[in-house]
Amino acid sequence: MTGQELEATGYDIPPELKQQVTVTSIDKIYNWGRRNSIWPMMFGLACCAIEMICTAASRYDLARFGMEVMRPSPRQSDLMIVSGTVTKKMIPQIVRLFNQMPEPKYVLAMGACASGGGPFKEGYNVVSGVDRYIPVDVYVPGCPPTPQALLHGLITLQKKIDSQSIRRVGWYDKKVSAEAIPVPVLGPDIMDPREYAQIARYTAEKRQKEAIAAQTPGGTAQAAPAGH
Ligand code: SF4
Repeated sequence: MTGQELEATGYDIPPELKQQVTVTSIDKIYNWGRRNSIWPMMFGLACCAIEMICTAASRYDLARFGMEVMRPSPRQSDLMIVSGTVTKKMIPQIVRLFNQMPEPKYVLAMGACASGGGPFKEGYNVVSGVDRYIPVDVYVPGCPPTPQALLHGLITLQKKIDSQSIRRVGWYDKKVSAEAIPVPVLGPDIMDPREYAQIARYTAEKRQKEAIAAQTPGGTAQAAPAGH
């Protein structure tokens, strides 16, 4: 953001005042600070992470955007770059890390795997997109996306930050910011605690059908619907 953009508040500021001080709005200065100091969390999941590492190295130089300080702790991170295949074994940890990040926080799904499962979409151990569990702000397509594509995604995130207003976001609302996403449970398959009622209903119906089939001579239980 240039100095002119910072001062473009929509209010008439006398020219003589402009030469002495910078007059801007809270939203503009707040977003200007945030967009130029996004600290990504330092973690990678698969091959996309190699491209993310290249983006931070000297050729592409994330430091130009104030994003070079990758943090080893979610407590100090503003941005989670999900760079790689999200497996069912890994998603509980990802959700836990997301919950531990302070607001305002953002998620960027890097590559086909993080966005929708990618080449492993039908895999028994792969989640079909990290957005099934945590909210994603920016999707970067590709397998893997190039460093330029990741930079474009980060610039897109900066534009999103520019458009936010402190009056409308819920970060400082205790009720909104206190809500953590339930951590999925890894069992025979991954289970989302938000779907427990549905799972219990399905299990009860299945047992009922099996009981009826067992009482009927020659009867067979109806096939259970797929996807559970
Ligand atoms: S999107 Fe392609 S490059 Fe990225 S983690 Fe998946 S398979 Fe690897």
